[in-house]
Amino acid sequence: MEAAESSTTPEAGQVAKNLVDTLSDGTKVKRRVHRQRACNEPAAKGKICAGHLKRWYFFPAEVQAKFGSQAEVYRCEHCRTLYLPADGEQPRTGTLSY
Ligand SMILES: [Zn+2]
Repeated sequence: MEAAESSTTPEAGQVAKNLVDTLSDGTKVKRRVHRQRACNEPAAKGKICAGHLKRWYFFPAEVQAKFGSQAEVYRCEHCRTLYLPADGEQPRTGTLSY
C-alpha cells in the first residue's frame, strides 16, 4: 500500500500513467491497473485508445532482458503499448492454454 506515483520522469510531456519503461524502439511498457482489459493510452481528440489487451508471448529479447523470459506481458492490439500485470494480481496460468 504505497504510492509510487512520483517516480515518473519529469520531462514526460503527457500524462504517463503507470508507465514502467520505454523500449529502444519507443514502445511504452505500462503496468495495468486491476482488472484492466482495455488500453488507456491517450488517443486523438481527447479519447483513449481503448484497444484490447492481449497476452503476448513472442516479445523481443529486450523485453525478455528487462522483465524475464517468463514475464506475463500484454499488448494493446491497437497502439502496441505493452502492459505488465498489476501488482498483486494473480497470474492467469494453467487453464488458459492459448
Ligand atoms: Zn492502445
